[in-house]
Amino acid sequence: MQFLVHYFLHLVFPGIVAYAFYRPRWLKVYLLLLATMLVDVDHLLATPIYQPCRCSIGFHPLHSFIACVLYAVLLYWPKTRIVALGLLMHMATDGIDCIWNSYSCG
Ligand SMILES: [Zn+2]
Repeated sequence: MQFLVHYFLHLVFPGIVAYAFYRPRWLKVYLLLLATMLVDVDHLLATPIYQPCRCSIGFHPLHSFIACVLYAVLLYWPKTRIVALGLLMHMATDGIDCIWNSYSCG
């Protein structure tokens, strides 16, 4: 179930947001929102790269609290707004995983 929610929020929800708020150019916006998943490149710096119960928020550099503040600041300018939105939706999705893991991983 967690897996489905996680990938729904990472892959489908951005499409819903793009279609709802950027209808004339929703596909371009959707692809840009999907491209923000590249932020997970910072997982490559960790050892091990993937650990099922690890909370990525506050652990990986591009998932740090200061990075999240920067993403929120980037909402201000129209040119960076969509990327910032994608990054913040990504952080929210990973954050939901952290909460979920706090119950399922003990
Ligand atoms: Zn992530």
